[in-house]
Amino acid sequence: MLTERVWSGNSLRNFHYLIACPESGEALAVDPLEWRMCLEAARRRGWQITQILNTHEHADHTGGNAGLKDATHARILAHAKAAARIGGVDRGLAKGDVIRVGRTVELECLDTPGHTLAHICLLARGDEPALFSGDTLFNAGAGNTYNGGDTGLLYETFVTQLARLPDDTRVFPGHEYLARNLEFTLDREPGNADASAFLEGARGHEPAAARVTTLAEEKRINTFFRLQNPTIIARLREVFPEIGERPEARTVFLKLRELRNRW
Ligand SMILES: [Zn+2]
Ligand SMILES: [Zn+2]
Repeated sequence: MLTERVWSGNSLRNFHYLIACPESGEALAVDPLEWRMCLEAARRRGWQITQILNTHEHADHTGGNAGLKDATHARILAHAKAAARIGGVDRGLAKGDVIRVGRTVELECLDTPGHTLAHICLLARGDEPALFSGDTLFNAGAGNTYNGGDTGLLYETFVTQLARLPDDTRVFPGHEYLARNLEFTLDREPGNADASAFLEGARGHEPAAARVTTLAEEKRINTFFRLQNPTIIARLREVFPEIGERPEARTVFLKLRELRNRW
């Protein structure tokens, strides 16, 4: 599997991805808002975009569908429950569906509600596992839930699906928010040396060269995977004393997300 990350350079800080079969050169484009950039990236690599996948229905992920489809005749794939809102979807997806790209690439669809109620993350298994996580999991952060989502569902997705993926899974999110998210981690957990080191690196890089984290790293730098951390709980109680000394992980997640919304 070949992966190309395309940095949009826009104010929303979108990342797009091309996932290609090294044998056939067929490629799938993930959330190609700036579709001309994706087309140009594919042309440079000698790939043909034959499929477009939307992780969810928000316009900053679907807005490039029509242009890229016109240019390539690619099929559009999206969560079956988001298809009506997106329009023009050729294949509706559900949990466990497999997307094939060319002869060698297989991507599994994870049904990951939370940011929206119908959100797909793509999982590539194998020697170099990769997760294309849309707006569910960001590098060092979690998606918001105030635009058609549900924080309780996002918590379930984190705990029952994402946290259980292999440690070496690389995380390819829909936006570049690494430095800002690390600042939130350090606000909640000032002594987190891993987050400090990552932040140093993130500040020295252009977004186009931003580091790709692994799930093992996420568990060290992402507050939303650190729900049992005593410092995080103690500092959360300063804002929300009602959660008590031993809050459930779900409560910690909900309160962290609430805090992040206004931070
Ligand atoms: Zn979104
Ligand atoms: Zn987005």
